[in-house]
Amino acid sequence: MTDLPPGLRQRLDRELDFVGLQPVAEAASSDGETSKTLFALPDGSRLEAVLMRYERRRTVCISTQVGCAMGCVFCATGQMGFLRNLTPGEIVAQVMAFARRLGADGDRLTNIVVMGMGEPFHNYDATLAALDRLNDPAGLGFGDRRMTISTVGLVPAIDRFASERRQINLAVSLHAATDELRTRLLPVNRRYPLSALFDACRRYVDATHRRITFEWALIDGVNDGLEQAQALAGLAARLTCHVNLIPLNPTGAYPGSATTRQKAHAFAEELRRFGVPATVRMRRGIDIQAGCGQLATQAGSRAAKT
Ligand code: SAH
Ligand code: SF4
Repeated sequence: MTDLPPGLRQRLDRELDFVGLQPVAEAASSDGETSKTLFALPDGSRLEAVLMRYERRRTVCISTQVGCAMGCVFCATGQMGFLRNLTPGEIVAQVMAFARRLGADGDRLTNIVVMGMGEPFHNYDATLAALDRLNDPAGLGFGDRRMTISTVGLVPAIDRFASERRQINLAVSLHAATDELRTRLLPVNRRYPLSALFDACRRYVDATHRRITFEWALIDGVNDGLEQAQALAGLAARLTCHVNLIPLNPTGAYPGSATTRQKAHAFAEELRRFGVPATVRMRRGIDIQAGCGQLATQAGSRAAKT
């Protein structure tokens, strides 16, 4: 940057750390709508982020950790274990990489979802610092309402998020409506069981007047029975919420398989019958392991195979 005065150049060198997020591999789904990028960090860690182009939406799905400590049994990131937290700069850099790429095509990002590798509320400060920077008019000026954070359900962090009254959307990964089943799938349920989680969700909705989204990956013969839909309807009664149902995406170390289309729709119908809005979502990017819960990287990985 020889166009800058030498004093400023020295100061930049001293005070700024440029994030070296290098794209090292790229994969595009056969329908061309989803692309996944593997990035390498200077310390040798690797992470994945995904761009989805669907109709007029351009959504980037970003990671907040290398690996994840939560150990959800059906998730490739959980199967690789926890390596480290990402810094705010490393989180922002993922968005910028895709924003620049779209910009070069005369296109632009419309949504950011924090649903990649890692549990964002287990790296709360860095995640929110990154989203604040992206929201800052001096930064990308990206609207909070077009950002969504997905959490496995860390109750104290949900309360903190509620108290900060942000406009960022909140999604909670539920996947089961009875403690026995949820603990089997999501070990964190032992620490924050459903009653505590739903109390926190109610506090969030009361404090923010925002709708909460629940995510539910339908696993054949495991959590796709109508009795689970009924239990969920009981928990979610009179709560401003929406349930997103997606058939399970396959991962290396989990033997379960996706529910059938028919059972997914029956589950959604049962929820609606009890007044709980629900949508069956399309699976995307499965052929390149870019679907929900399929992101993992080789370094330190026990079970994933990207
Ligand atoms: N850690 C956060 C965000 C990343 S995971 C969370 O758990 O919410 C993003 C979403 O993918 C979560 O809803 C998670 O439960 C879901 N997911 C994980 N593995 C999946 C799989 N194999 N099939 C479908 N969804 C999966
Ligand atoms: Fe972590 Fe989310 Fe995967 Fe669970 S589903 S292991 S919280 S990334």
